[in-house]
Amino acid sequence: TILADQIAAGEVIERPSSVVKELVENAIDAHSTRIDITVHHGGLASMQVTDNGDGIAPEQVRLAFQRFATSKIRNQADLFRVNSLGFRGEALPSIAAVATVDMKTSDGVHPGTELQMKGGKVEAELPAATRRGTTIEVTDLFFNTPKRRDYLKTSSTELSKITETVNHLALSHPEIAFSLVHDDKELLRTSGRANLQQVIAGIYNNQSIKKMIPVTAHNEDFELEGYTSLPELTRASRKYLSVIVNGRFVQDAELNRAIIAGYGSKLMVGRYPVTVLRITMDPTQLDVNVHPTKQAVRLLNQTELSQFITHAIAQTLADRNL
Ligand code: ADP
Ligand code: MG
Repeated sequence: TILADQIAAGEVIERPSSVVKELVENAIDAHSTRIDITVHHGGLASMQVTDNGDGIAPEQVRLAFQRFATSKIRNQADLFRVNSLGFRGEALPSIAAVATVDMKTSDGVHPGTELQMKGGKVEAELPAATRRGTTIEVTDLFFNTPKRRDYLKTSSTELSKITETVNHLALSHPEIAFSLVHDDKELLRTSGRANLQQVIAGIYNNQSIKKMIPVTAHNEDFELEGYTSLPELTRASRKYLSVIVNGRFVQDAELNRAIIAGYGSKLMVGRYPVTVLRITMDPTQLDVNVHPTKQAVRLLNQTELSQFITHAIAQTLADRNL
């Protein structure tokens, strides 16, 4: 029901950046190689995501907006080895319940479809001449839930959250070409050539990447690649620590502490290195079904991973006599 979708939206869709996150995650799950994001007025006016992925067949388009109708999980076993970013089937119905949504999609086989939704109701479904892939435009977020709308911050605050979200997604997927445009100003463009160093340079700046060194490590449980800064390049915020596990950006205080521990006494109190670590591990050791926004994960081998990270960083610095 629309009410249930609105309640679900309260958990999944907190602000414009949550919309961007869910739409881009869907584009990634659809095997896109290019994802273009355009937002206006910090997302408060509109947000549009265009991908060149699998698209949706005409008879599946309405289904995509039904709650728990995910195409990504078929049975219980799948839930314990999720390798897609989405799996709950809640994002599209949640967004459509509290906004105006216009989706154009084509699977490249059948004629394309356009579906217009508002406040959880279908307004129109029409044929659309569109290339393979999907474009979703979301406007008037929270138009029917004024309390939530009032809770939103200024457009510049909302924009900074969107930028942060897109940066995390781009770092997680250097093999995808991303662009982020805000009010006709380009804020990020990545090449999609699987070059993590280039993505980091695009996000932080060329000065930073010159002061970062590659980190690689592996054992029988984990594979790690990334970059971490020389002890001289530090920042006053933890937000420069990025940990990506199986292509999923994770926010985890213990893993962040593991990075810092790798520096030992080389960092001043309150200073953090700029670090991007991409870790690959057995998906059955990772429970992603902890929170609707999927930012938090539960790691069955958390202690082992923390030690692995600390050791990888410490070893990298030691190898350079730092
Ligand atoms: P989930 O991602 O958890 O499956 P969503 O509500 O985000 O749930 O999306 C519902 C379904 O719509 C997905 O399972 C997928 O089949 C389809 N879908 C959504 N966005 C896209 C897209 N950009 N390209 C192709 N299919 C999509
Ligand atoms: Mg999804």
